[in-house]
Amino acid sequence: MKPELILFVILSISILSYLFDQILDYINLKAQRKDIPAEVEGFYNKEKYQKSLNYQKDQTRFSFITAAFSFLLSLGMLIFGGFGWLDSELRPFFNNEITLALVFFGVIMIVSDLLTIPFQWYGTFVIEEKYGFNKTTVKTFITDKLKGYVLGALIGGALLSVLIYLINSIGPDFWMWFGILAATFILFVNMFYTSLILPLFNKLTPLAEGELKTSIEEFARKINFPLDNIFVMDGSKRSAKANAFFSGIGKKKKIVLYDTLINNHTTEELVAVLAHEVGHFKKKHIIWSYLISIIQIFFVLFVLSRMVFNENLSIALGGSQQAIHLNLIAFGILFSPISGITGLLMSMLSRKNEFEADAYAKETFDGKALSNALKKLSVDSLSNLYPHPAYVFFHYSHPPLLQRLEALK
Ligand SMILES: [Zn+2]
Repeated sequence: MKPELILFVILSISILSYLFDQILDYINLKAQRKDIPAEVEGFYNKEKYQKSLNYQKDQTRFSFITAAFSFLLSLGMLIFGGFGWLDSELRPFFNNEITLALVFFGVIMIVSDLLTIPFQWYGTFVIEEKYGFNKTTVKTFITDKLKGYVLGALIGGALLSVLIYLINSIGPDFWMWFGILAATFILFVNMFYTSLILPLFNKLTPLAEGELKTSIEEFARKINFPLDNIFVMDGSKRSAKANAFFSGIGKKKKIVLYDTLINNHTTEELVAVLAHEVGHFKKKHIIWSYLISIIQIFFVLFVLSRMVFNENLSIALGGSQQAIHLNLIAFGILFSPISGITGLLMSMLSRKNEFEADAYAKETFDGKALSNALKKLSVDSLSNLYPHPAYVFFHYSHPPLLQRLEALK
């Protein structure tokens, strides 16, 4: 394919995917309804329900602005050959392709992050603040950013260096070797996320003695789940929103409950939420999602190996010669329709898994308690009770509340 045609395809994909996302956001906003569903009537008053509608409106309008900004920025970069220009400006200073690529991506990441900081700031300190969710201090906001930069530079930099080294030294077969490395890396992250990465941002403490611990102990014995793997996280450091999640594989598996969750729920409800998380483990959702992501990675790398040596990709982005980092960007956009489809399939699987974990909690503990917990969680975070089905189909990793309640009956 000629560079002009490649650029045309890249621009078309960018424009269509931007429009598609905005249309979905728009119809989702239009699907708002004034009536409170009977299932959550006891949890909402008119005023609070109106607040949840306003919250969704504010969020969607704000996302129209941020999406438009990012879209115009990347469109400009593509039309005016900005990526190629940056490559030619940096190239004379580096004679090593790995260093050049690291600096190239470093500049792009830092500049785009600096440009979007005002939006992140507004989202946290204005919108979330307005609805009483924000607990992040300016200090936490800044240290989070710095830690994120360091972590991104170390991990992203190491992976990128190895990728480029393998591409240059092995040629088109690099995909198998890098795939094995990436699979090992993801396994490592899966295993050590809660012991190495999460503590950089949050404090994890074992569950304190008391009624909750006794109830959980009783439940854990019944279903044969090791109790020393349950932790409480100081989620209240950043947001009033509550959550719980399962993480890890094998002996490293852990369930993390946010302190915000513990504060707002009864013991029964908390055990039910825990039972849901254990359900993800018992139904083997964790191991399957790991295996599927590995298959995906090998597939992506294989397709990349067919394209990464094509000089025309670099030229399409305004480059004067072939550069792997330019080709990686072009590939990222060209591949995005396919990754959109695999992402969609993953969301469908995830929604199915949520139903299964809910059913597990109902079987082994109490469906009513879980229903109550889900209602509280949804109401407290002012979530959308009537999301548009198309929006759910493309974006939701969890089924909407009313569907989950229906299934739990
Ligand atoms: Zn779940």
